[in-house]
Amino acid sequence: MKTRSACLTGVGKIEVRDREITPAPDEILVKTHLAGVCGQDKNLYNGLIPPSGGLNTEMRTAFGYPYFFGHEGGGTVVEVGERVRRFAPGDRVMSFAWVETYSEHFKAREDDLEPAPEGLDPDLACLGEPVGCAIFSGLMSQIQLGDVVAVFGMGFAGQVMAQVARAKGAFRTIGVDVVQGKLDLALELGLDVAVNGARDDPVAAVLEVTRGQGADVVVEMAGTEEALRMGTASVKHNGTLVFYSWVTQDVTLNISRWHNNSLTVINTGLVHHGVLQRRIWTPMALRPLIQGQLKIEPLITHSYPLEEIDRAFATAAGDPAAIKVVVRPEAG
Ligand SMILES: [Zn+2]
Repeated sequence: MKTRSACLTGVGKIEVRDREITPAPDEILVKTHLAGVCGQDKNLYNGLIPPSGGLNTEMRTAFGYPYFFGHEGGGTVVEVGERVRRFAPGDRVMSFAWVETYSEHFKAREDDLEPAPEGLDPDLACLGEPVGCAIFSGLMSQIQLGDVVAVFGMGFAGQVMAQVARAKGAFRTIGVDVVQGKLDLALELGLDVAVNGARDDPVAAVLEVTRGQGADVVVEMAGTEEALRMGTASVKHNGTLVFYSWVTQDVTLNISRWHNNSLTVINTGLVHHGVLQRRIWTPMALRPLIQGQLKIEPLITHSYPLEEIDRAFATAAGDPAAIKVVVRPEAG
């Protein structure tokens, strides 16, 4: 069928093109309701790909221009191939893979999708992957009642994590970012202490809140060497460092601190396990969302039609108040 899709044609260059997509017998055709802009998409837009050279198992095709992209999103199934059993036309689905969601329609295999939970707002259901990943990380983080939790990187995932930490009974949540607008929103949504790393020393701030002990749990959600370094320096003895991000460059890190202070290092990634594990964990990860225990709507700060996707990326990169920027192909 004919559709319109956004594709990268060079570093920082994006174009919406007419395109023909034909689902294979094992594929599902989805009409896109909403597609999110993720830090990973911004990296691709800026020409940054992981050291694995674009053959990252997450990515469906090796990276090269022109590159059709978008992995967050969802919509309604319009057609299924003859070998598809798990989904039928009319089903609402959310994407968990690199299925090129910046498009009026996208095609996916059964394993790329999860059914949208019953009763969940359609916008939030389309963000099932980023929300689910961040909540899953929070559930796996070992955050306990009474902990001091420091989150490095207050983008979308960091915002969700700070809320999860609070809901799990953290005594104090500390958010670190260099963009004041992100910190301001986090404070409005319940963050206890905001540290602007462009102005103040985040490690010193964490030590001050914890009387020199360090945080019980530090969550790295920025994907930078600096965040990993400062995070490593901010965990208390025997504390926990939670690693979340997609890191596009090799990093140098004092991991002797992991050893000497016997840190527990947890690598959390809902989408980085087997598909069957993901299928079991996704409903668990999205349960707090369906139950209304987190405030996700205020995190959707900007919305653009597909034709203005270049503006969506400019906003995601440059607007200090941007948390989750979304593209709505249905908006014409
Ligand atoms: Zn993402």
